[in-house]
Amino acid sequence: MVESASPRWLVLDGYEDEPAAFGVPPYVGFHIRYLCGVLEQAKIEYDYVTIDQWRDFIRVEGEDAASARLSNVSGVACIAGAVVPGRYLRGTPISLKETRNIIRQLPAQVPALFGGWAIRGWRQQGWNPLRSNLFLAVQDTDATLSNFLRSGQWKHCRRTAEEWTLWAQSGASSKAVTQHPDLGDEEKKGPLTYEVEVYQGCVRYKRGCKFCIEPKKGIPIWRTPEDIIEEVRLAHEAGVEHVRLGGMTDTYTYMAEGVQELEYPIPNPEPIARLLHGLREDERLGILHTDNGNPSIIAQHLEQSEEITKTLVETLSDGAVLSFGLESADPNVHEANWLNCDAKQLKSAIRLINKHGRGRGSRGLPNLLPGLNFIAGLNGESSATYDLNLNLLHEIRNEGLLLRRINIRQVEGEGFQDIVQKDFNSFKSSVRDNIDGPLLQELFPLGEKLCDVHWETHDGRTRLAAHQTEAHTSKDCHGKAGISFGRQIGAYPILIGVEYHIPLETQSDIIVTGHGARSITGVEINLNHTSVSQKQLEAIPGIGEKTAWKLVSQRAKNIRKNSPSGAYQSPQQWFDATDVDWNDNFAVFFE
Ligand code: SF4
Repeated sequence: MVESASPRWLVLDGYEDEPAAFGVPPYVGFHIRYLCGVLEQAKIEYDYVTIDQWRDFIRVEGEDAASARLSNVSGVACIAGAVVPGRYLRGTPISLKETRNIIRQLPAQVPALFGGWAIRGWRQQGWNPLRSNLFLAVQDTDATLSNFLRSGQWKHCRRTAEEWTLWAQSGASSKAVTQHPDLGDEEKKGPLTYEVEVYQGCVRYKRGCKFCIEPKKGIPIWRTPEDIIEEVRLAHEAGVEHVRLGGMTDTYTYMAEGVQELEYPIPNPEPIARLLHGLREDERLGILHTDNGNPSIIAQHLEQSEEITKTLVETLSDGAVLSFGLESADPNVHEANWLNCDAKQLKSAIRLINKHGRGRGSRGLPNLLPGLNFIAGLNGESSATYDLNLNLLHEIRNEGLLLRRINIRQVEGEGFQDIVQKDFNSFKSSVRDNIDGPLLQELFPLGEKLCDVHWETHDGRTRLAAHQTEAHTSKDCHGKAGISFGRQIGAYPILIGVEYHIPLETQSDIIVTGHGARSITGVEINLNHTSVSQKQLEAIPGIGEKTAWKLVSQRAKNIRKNSPSGAYQSPQQWFDATDVDWNDNFAVFFE
């Protein structure tokens, strides 16, 4: 962690995590960049530190060092994004306890600004810290910081359109990017994915889904394609390769026509094409993915939506997902909650995306598929709701349509109704067993090659500090006993497990060899028969522990007898010499 000699502002990235605002590594969120952009514009010195770096600092140096560090800052600005941090692979958002600790350790005269959804959530739950010079932002944290730097006063503020562009662009090359631990360098590129804010709000702002906060933002405000392309260009200059277009409640209504007059505004294929092609023109762009889609808009305007879908397939990287918020297939729930889309519209939108998006791209993934979101706990729900949801999923599958992911979320508290746990659990397990399982096998069939898997953890699904040490990143660990977990870069990647260690923070290609509940297993291709380890051999389907041991012993004997230059010429020669039947299916795993 970078530490400054003279006091500077500390920008603490507590990670935001919203469906339309990814910010947990490998993503870098836009709100934290805007904060850095404010400081860049004001020419104020600052350090950017992620909450995981802060945790490591405390682990290594101790709480006293953290207090000393905090007593030497000019101010603290933090975005806290997840009210209850869930399970993450690569980084965990700041918790309320950690936030409290930081506030407690901070000297009273040091200004401190905390913003993000977690702050609002914790406040609603009754958190009310008393400390002078502490401000909890409920509007735009960046605009609030800017106002404080100018006036010395804390006040809830909103950014103007000009400030949005200014801070987005200066944030693009700020320390949130250049000092982000996932950026990597020329030699070893990191998986950093740059989340861009395309617009704010929802076209259903007049009568939106009752549980949603988007309509409260009023009429949607779009950023122009040129503004976004320029921001991403600056990010590329700073070393960014991968981008996700976030901040979109619906990709299809970006700059749509009739937003103020129509229930279903008309998608406008031109600006989104200008944006996507404009981004693709820059050869530095790697993976490009997008955000949500509104199936009712697609279904009501199939012609324009087809044009947009073709543009998406042409310009996005494979593995792209358009999340569709159906929430419920029950007409009663629809009526009670002013929901957006019915089952008929949904199926029509899913058919369109499948028609153009189900072909596979260069990394082995379907190009573009819909995801589907359900919410349990909405008013009007009954046991019949779950049957309707399940029937709809079966109808979709019976038509042979693909869904990349089905997300089932429970909501509770004020404004929602109690969930009958038995109904909910049985719905969930039916979906997992009868829908998700077969889908996973169809999306990632056995034998399919998946390219550029980025290896992130060993022996568990959470990245630990130790995983960044030589023992886990150097090529010497390749093939040793254990499990490696990795994902391809992009939105909603499938978790891939391999039954031996692969150096972390490297990438390789795999062949799918098995399916778990929500993950797959694989084995790398391009294994070298002169050095492949027993564990690597064991991971290949059809080679068990005993055979792998026999092969490795025979190879060692042969090398002892004939010196390394006498190693077997091919894997098949090696297998034959060991009296192990060669199977043509093995060939795909070897160089
Ligand atoms: S369509 Fe989506 S973003 Fe708009 S109000 Fe409904 S849930 Fe919210």
